[in-house]
Amino acid sequence: MKYVGLGLLALLLLFVAVLLLRTVLLKKKIRPAPSAVLWTPEEERAYAKTLSSLVKIPTLSRNQGQTWEDFALYQQKIADLFPLIDKTAEVHDVDGNVLRRIPGAKPGRGAWLLMGHQDVVPANGQKGWTKDPFSGEISDGAVWGRGAMDCKGTFAAEWLAVEELLREGFVFQNDLWLFSSRNEETGGGGAEAAAEYLQSIGVRLTAVLDEGGAVVTDQFPGLSVPVAAIGLAEKGFVNLKFTAKSPGGHAANPPKNTPLVRLSKFVASVEKHPPFKRAFRQPVTGMFAAIAPYMSFPFRLLLGNLPIFAPLLKRVLPAVSPMAGAFLSTTAAFTQAAGSAAPNVLPDEAYIICNVRPSLHQGAAESVDLLKKRAAKYGIETEVLFLKEPSRLTPYDTGIAAFFASRVSACLPDAVVSPYLMTGGTDSRRFEPVCDNIFRFTPTRLTKQQLAAMHAANENLSVSALAEATKIYKYLIGEYDK
Ligand SMILES: [Zn+2]
Repeated sequence: MKYVGLGLLALLLLFVAVLLLRTVLLKKKIRPAPSAVLWTPEEERAYAKTLSSLVKIPTLSRNQGQTWEDFALYQQKIADLFPLIDKTAEVHDVDGNVLRRIPGAKPGRGAWLLMGHQDVVPANGQKGWTKDPFSGEISDGAVWGRGAMDCKGTFAAEWLAVEELLREGFVFQNDLWLFSSRNEETGGGGAEAAAEYLQSIGVRLTAVLDEGGAVVTDQFPGLSVPVAAIGLAEKGFVNLKFTAKSPGGHAANPPKNTPLVRLSKFVASVEKHPPFKRAFRQPVTGMFAAIAPYMSFPFRLLLGNLPIFAPLLKRVLPAVSPMAGAFLSTTAAFTQAAGSAAPNVLPDEAYIICNVRPSLHQGAAESVDLLKKRAAKYGIETEVLFLKEPSRLTPYDTGIAAFFASRVSACLPDAVVSPYLMTGGTDSRRFEPVCDNIFRFTPTRLTKQQLAAMHAANENLSVSALAEATKIYKYLIGEYDK
């Protein structure tokens, strides 16, 4: 018996030794090297001025029926700022959203598309802003204002790069399409119409580059290097309405299980025991594999040995970080509710709205079904208000993805280039009918404050980040057309 115990102990020690060895030996890909891109202080200033003049035009998201004057102004502005693109590019008007093509001389890799929407979300009545959100102020090393980052920064960097190449006499080899939707933030149909148009004229794209991930620091515990997070997929988006009914009654002598009580029990049950499956799948597994070697112990041990620790991590991660939880499964957020019209009246009907972000492995239809079954247990009806399935997953590590990853890495030698799952949405997925390789990534370095300012107060983009991104786009185009 004693020997069996000793044998088991030896096995356990061996197992731990192997794990530790594996952890220590996790391969790092970052090598100290000079970046492939450089820029001058004069360029930095000029780029910042360009972005600033775009931020000054309040291209606020709007719904049908409102006027588009600011967008017309914006189009005029970009014609002034980018005269060579204006002169060179073919213009295809798609439902008021302009699609442009810089014709290529000798197609090699094939046509591709750079995207960056022109509409911005409102500035919330300037609440919390320390600068005027539409002044485009350049101060403290940044361009300030609504849209500086989302998404005029992306747009400006792309267009500045193309304009600069044209000015230098660069001959584009592959067709380069430029698209800037004016209704991304409201989920409008601009990108969809553009994709339909491309399909109708028989264009297939080798790659699409849109906003999404960025070059971020301090977003993961125990990780000190910047991460260039390339979004390869997007979760789905569903709005559900859960309604509980009852014959009423009097608030002075309430019966059991009134509508609001049943809704509350249901909501508490979903939070305590979410019906969704947690799983480590691509691109999340790819992301953990990429960043694990740079993490401090014990994250390095846990994420670097995912097959062994997955069961533990599935339980622990969502409790430690809501973001990590969102990477592993469908999420459900209860966002709106209504009961009766008066404080002393029991509702004969009450409802609660839930925003669901379906995972790639369960999808929207299955996630809705799981919630619907849970709701039925409490006598609650489910209505689907809006449903969008998750995007497809762009293949990584091969072909065009490997090309982009290696070139981005050459430009950002201090950063780890990593696959990434978008928990939010972009316009780019609309191009799935004409493209298999959709990348959601702007090569801008963002601080924690800048990330938090997305759709919030004090949005800004560092002037150095804008210059770096411009040069990276320029480098990518040059490499793509080689
Ligand atoms: Zn955006």
